[in-house]
Amino acid sequence: MNENLCQSCGKPMGHTDDLYGTEKNGTKNKDYCEDCYKSGEFTTKISKERMIEVSIPYLMKEKPWLSEDVARKEMEAFFPTLKRWKNGMV
Ligand SMILES: [Zn+2]
Repeated sequence: MNENLCQSCGKPMGHTDDLYGTEKNGTKNKDYCEDCYKSGEFTTKISKERMIEVSIPYLMKEKPWLSEDVARKEMEAFFPTLKRWKNGMV
């Protein structure tokens, strides 16, 4: 369970740096995936609440036994542990 997660959307990043986003100079960012972070900035100005809503269907696909309520509670507990959302930053 040591797999790195995108610190914005929580997506598993695997064990290569293929999925990581890039800084302005083209180097890989080590915290965020390419969907969230490109060329040194976040691709979307999304709120944590919105990110949670977007993520619920993915979680429920992964864990079909979860009800939407439970999935939302899991996400609400999970997202504040990610770097992007830790400080209540939007
Ligand atoms: Zn991401």
